[in-house]
Amino acid sequence: MSRFFSSKYDNLTPYTPGEQPVDRRYIKLNTNESPYPPPEPVKKAAVDSSENLNLYCDPECTALREKLSGVYGVKKEKIIVTNGSDEALDFAFKSFCDKKTGAAFSDITYGFYRVFAEANGVSYKEIPLKEDFSLDISDYFNIGKTVFIANPNAPTGLCIPLCDIEKIVKENKNNVVVIDEAYIDFGGESALELTEKYDNLLVVRTFSKSRSMAGARLGFAVGSEELIGDLNTLRFSVNPYNVNSMTQKTGIAALSQEEYFKNKAGEIIKERERAKRELSKMGFYILDSSANFLFARSDKIGGKELYLRLKEKGILVRHFDSERIKEFNRITVGTREQMDALFSAVKTILEERL
Ligand SMILES: *Cc1c(COP(=O)(O)O)cnc(C)c1O
Repeated sequence: MSRFFSSKYDNLTPYTPGEQPVDRRYIKLNTNESPYPPPEPVKKAAVDSSENLNLYCDPECTALREKLSGVYGVKKEKIIVTNGSDEALDFAFKSFCDKKTGAAFSDITYGFYRVFAEANGVSYKEIPLKEDFSLDISDYFNIGKTVFIANPNAPTGLCIPLCDIEKIVKENKNNVVVIDEAYIDFGGESALELTEKYDNLLVVRTFSKSRSMAGARLGFAVGSEELIGDLNTLRFSVNPYNVNSMTQKTGIAALSQEEYFKNKAGEIIKERERAKRELSKMGFYILDSSANFLFARSDKIGGKELYLRLKEKGILVRHFDSERIKEFNRITVGTREQMDALFSAVKTILEERL
């Protein structure tokens, strides 16, 4: 740290992204990306859009928001487009939380919530999930803080039924409830429709997981016009050109390929269930996942050790060093071939230990 770094960041521990190694080719099952490339029209849109790079991009993302409006059936005034959904989350922390109105989220969830809270000087409460990692919705009733819930949750993969999400929204009339639906295309029910009914609900979505566009950085949020207006005030105060022209164009192209992405999500769901059966046969305990990953542990091998041994064999999974989940690994569901390679590597590792 230089002697110039602001003291307001004294307690800041930055987010640790999953490894994106360049030293060798790994089978990457560690950052919940799609194993499938985007379809041709999306790649073509990326190339074609490079024509106008001398000009600033549309700060309103008009065409993309119109397209989103058509696909999701919500007015475009209720949509904000962001540089990955991480940016939408950051704007939500900046807009709806401060020292007094803190944030609330569970102890085992997306690690960025804590980092955004710290980076923005927001006080926060981490509410422990139950022993089985499920969330007790009554913990969040009238909590007097801005609520952040990933549904389905990461890294557990568990989801909360829509009626329970609605109860949380209803029981927090005077606070914003942010539902992060990064994995909703792999299971669970979206809360999007509830944004018509409640002015305190913000739903955050991403193109990074089910739409094969993690590298393009595209997300969006849906909420009441007033909430979206606040987020735009923030956006125009830090970076009005937050979504570059290539990403806007690829996003529009992707929204014309819903069949392709639905099919791929279907394949991933099928592969997820097969992986669950295969790993269970090998003695793993696995949570019920509604996402594109499995959260698994085994009594035969520690979480950290399995992660390291798989890495030696060229397979990356995600291990978290925190106390409650250190025996688990989060395994992204890949293609059938990638998963077969995983099963055979795990089998070998377990046999070598006998
Ligand atoms: C991956 C992920 C995101 C962020 O995705 P972006 O690439 O920034 O759109 C947000 N929330 C959760 C829970 C995630 O797992």
